[in-house]
Amino acid sequence: RSWLGVMGGGQLGRMFAQAAQSMGYQVAVLEPAQECPAGQVAQRLVNAAYEDAAGLDALAAQCVAVTTEFENVPADSLSRLAQSVFVAPGAHGVSVAQDRVAEKAFFVSCAGKSGVLPAPHKVIASFEDIDAIADDLLPGILKTVRMGYDGKGQVRVRTREEVREAFEGMGQVTCLLEKMLPLAYEVSVLTARGADGESVVYPIAENVHRDGILFTTTVPGPNVSADSARKAQDAARAIVAELGYVGVLCIEFFVLADGTLVVNEMAPRPHNSGHYTMDACVTSQFAQQVRAMAKLPLGDVRQHSPAVMLNILGDVWFDGEGDDATRVREPAWDRVVALPGACLHLYGKDDPRPGRKMGHITFVAPSLEEAQRQLAAACGILGIAP
Ligand code: ATP
Ligand code: MG
Ligand code: MG
Repeated sequence: RSWLGVMGGGQLGRMFAQAAQSMGYQVAVLEPAQECPAGQVAQRLVNAAYEDAAGLDALAAQCVAVTTEFENVPADSLSRLAQSVFVAPGAHGVSVAQDRVAEKAFFVSCAGKSGVLPAPHKVIASFEDIDAIADDLLPGILKTVRMGYDGKGQVRVRTREEVREAFEGMGQVTCLLEKMLPLAYEVSVLTARGADGESVVYPIAENVHRDGILFTTTVPGPNVSADSARKAQDAARAIVAELGYVGVLCIEFFVLADGTLVVNEMAPRPHNSGHYTMDACVTSQFAQQVRAMAKLPLGDVRQHSPAVMLNILGDVWFDGEGDDATRVREPAWDRVVALPGACLHLYGKDDPRPGRKMGHITFVAPSLEEAQRQLAAACGILGIAP
């Protein structure tokens, strides 16, 4: 049996490994931490830093193809792997997606083909840049260029003075200031492109965030018009082709009150908003990643049931907030899985912390309303405000 490799041992690596194994592959994970969700299920854990040459070479020697679940894996490491093994996605796509300046510039460069633009923005690398901020970029959001996720590394700013404070607070690293847009709702489009250039686009997903973290994904999205769905899917197809990308890529969009579609960011990997595909589509996003990297034909993206996905954060183990939070319970999974259409996925993390993604639950049902009803019931059982 052949081996597939994945850079990163978090929950995305775990679900990737499970999908690969169900298709007959053995899986090797490269991950710096000794304990990790993917390490519990993979046939081999290469315990090494992402830039460790010996670790990378060991992975490359064992595998027929390597992918990544960690979007901040050094692009140089992917290039090193690519010298001796097929790597998907490749260093180029990942390096664009992990740098907000490069990512925004890329979106602007392909706007003619994709039909969408990112939010108005400006690179902030010095105090002079702050003095030169145009009035109409404020109020805005100052975002770190690298490593931000789940709304971390972002500060909302109203004035140049607040930009200055936030820039200092971030240690004066290069940031991106984005104009704050009046969002009507948020969507994401999951795509996959094969080495032969063929691509597939999943049904559009509507996302609700809470405290900067994805809270629910609903497909079909109750707010999504047929027109914005088509525009977003066409844009996604153009973007993935323009990037020359191979593998699963998720693109986040904003929809404004007047219907304007704005491209926000992309993730060079399976995405949290695509977890619903595991239970509601013919081919899950993880199985799709396996197909793309193994140069198999891409799978059917058809959705067979309406679905709502709820992220399960560590908070449901705790009472209280902040430093006062104390771990008090194991959530009543027996009652949650008793709900019709419940598909529970826990990531094998045994140290819950508030804000930490511990698992997710997807409700599939004959109608969206029924799935939403069951999701509300799960929130009640878990003590999550609906
Ligand atoms: P992720 O976990 O999705 O990678 P992230 O930390 O990279 O998140 P973004 O996706 O850029 O950050 O922003 C997080 C959320 O903040 C968005 O989903 C959106 O709700 C809000 N947001 C970001 N940029 C803007 C903007 N320009 N205008 C209004 N809201 C915004
Ligand atoms: Mg992001
Ligand atoms: Mg985002």
